[in-house]
Amino acid sequence: MTTTRFAPSPTGYIHVGNLRTALMNFLIAKKAGGTFILRIDDTDQERSKQEYVDGIQEDLEWLGITWDKIEFQSKRLDRYEAAADRLREMGRFYECFETPTELDLKRKKQLNMGKPPVYDRAMFSKTAEEKDALRAERGQGHWRFLLDQQRIEWTDGILGDLSIDAASVSDPVLIRGDGQMLYTLASVVDDTEMGVTHVVRGSDHVTNTATQIQIIEALGGTVPTFAHHSLLTGPQGEALSKRLGTLSLRDLREAGVEPMALLSLMARLGSSDPVELRSNIDELADGFDLGHFGTAPTKFDADDLYPLTGRVLHDLPLDAVAEDIAAAGVPADQSAQFWEVVRENITTRKDLATWWDLFANGADPVIDDEDKEFVAEAMALLPEGPFDGETWGVWTKAVKEATGRKGRGLFMPLRKALTGQSHGPDMSAVLPLLQVIKAKG
Ligand code: GLU
Repeated sequence: MTTTRFAPSPTGYIHVGNLRTALMNFLIAKKAGGTFILRIDDTDQERSKQEYVDGIQEDLEWLGITWDKIEFQSKRLDRYEAAADRLREMGRFYECFETPTELDLKRKKQLNMGKPPVYDRAMFSKTAEEKDALRAERGQGHWRFLLDQQRIEWTDGILGDLSIDAASVSDPVLIRGDGQMLYTLASVVDDTEMGVTHVVRGSDHVTNTATQIQIIEALGGTVPTFAHHSLLTGPQGEALSKRLGTLSLRDLREAGVEPMALLSLMARLGSSDPVELRSNIDELADGFDLGHFGTAPTKFDADDLYPLTGRVLHDLPLDAVAEDIAAAGVPADQSAQFWEVVRENITTRKDLATWWDLFANGADPVIDDEDKEFVAEAMALLPEGPFDGETWGVWTKAVKEATGRKGRGLFMPLRKALTGQSHGPDMSAVLPLLQVIKAKG
């Protein structure tokens, strides 16, 4: 059975880059009728925070990305220890005692000599006595997995056939000197024991994948299908890594982005399929194909989310926005009328309050110099309220007769005088909602 997982580290809120990973894994499971696991990679006790564990779940729930199971790596440490013991028994795991400074120096020397900075395995050949002495002097060492120096090959779900020479990669550290179990091993144990069949993640993990394939094989697990998606860049192709902090899902939610707008964009961005607004996740899953994603960096522009958000809103029935309309201050008996008038003129739900403010408190008129006299004359002809659906037609007819203006020259100055804007809903529908007309003086 198809099983996928999204494995965030709870060291921050998740952003659009993480969402891409989450969504791809989620849609693969969804399309196949499989299982989607939310795995919290919290072996780093110092940097992991409950606030982020909660935040990640809230953000996914907001989007309707639901998981069949949640797992916490911090609760599975004994499993990782057991795997580490097995690697030790096989002779594939060795303790090392170099300090970070020493390792750094080694790397620099290698680079100076034009060699790749691969760990030289100096500790692998130490005797037990030598290691005891080092441990007595330096404390517990860190543990490295002994790579088999062959080519590691796999067919990547996005990148195609890949081949990495293990000799060009350092033996990965799987347990730190302070005993912290590192993700590289923990992830392999989880993927194997939880029956994960597909792992989709960012292309920054390609080298990890190579080493993890060897660890999986050493532990007798089944290697899942790996796929690495390209990293997101800004609209101009600039690196997004620094800006991702401002592209957290909660910031986008706060800015008024609608879930289906975000999902519709992120599920297709970087693929050969067009971005089309979908009304639910099943529709997104139906048309999802990992094989359609390209290898080039994917440009992301947050501005693209707003037209889509507007389109999500236009189609909503009143009851889906009733709460926001009430919160904007619209009296219940006017909410249906209000929604009909503004639905096609909002980008986010926040605009509801802006429109209602305009209707309830009036807009500062915008009157061009050449229209001053005309607007004053028109205002003198504006009938007393209350206005209804006929008022605009009756009024503008009278203004036309009095001033001789017609068409755009007639309507636009009046719209701008009444609403302060050059575009917006049909004025015959706006007028009955306008409670204050500042242009009247
Ligand atoms: N916790 C890892 C990360 O956030 C998970 C990577 C993976 O999907 O294996 O990068």
